[in-house]
Amino acid sequence: MFAITQFPIPYATDALTPYISQETIETHHGKHVATYINNLNKLIENTQYESMPLLEIIQVSATNPDDKKIFNNAAQIYNHEFFFNGMCNKCNTQIPDELIKAFGGAENLKKQFKDSAAALFGSGYTWLVQDGDEFKIINTKDADTPIVHNMKPLLNLDVWEHAYYLDYKNKRPDFIDAFLENLVNWDFVAENIKNN
Ligand code: MN
Repeated sequence: MFAITQFPIPYATDALTPYISQETIETHHGKHVATYINNLNKLIENTQYESMPLLEIIQVSATNPDDKKIFNNAAQIYNHEFFFNGMCNKCNTQIPDELIKAFGGAENLKKQFKDSAAALFGSGYTWLVQDGDEFKIINTKDADTPIVHNMKPLLNLDVWEHAYYLDYKNKRPDFIDAFLENLVNWDFVAENIKNN
């Protein structure tokens, strides 16, 4: 039987310390993401989704309100793989010029991203996306994902409490700062801009 399998993280589980602890990475990837994968594989068994790749499961289930649970688990797998791939250890990467231009400077870009992430009430993600030829910062709630809204994701930050609670407790703004100042893999962002 076809099954969705766990994606690897492109660095060691202790690579993002002190900004994100090994315990958080192990819990986040090894428990939270693993649960979404187990749930999805159970939910799609003997359904039309069983033989679809993950991106197709997301797109098809997004159009079927009865399949909300399938959508939620599938989109969470995608959102998390994107999140973990968007970070790096001791990043020496440069913010792409087109983003600096679009947002009127690196500090403005980071400020808009931080304000958006800090203002997200409840669980969700803050994303840098390309919407047509425009760069935007948006929030999505719960498992929602820009790829079902015709937007191209460039970067995301998981602001569900499980992403930061062990390290930052209630201080989400500190987690957002640590991410923006130390963890963003801007080379990953630049690659995503190039890939149309
Ligand atoms: Mn998460």
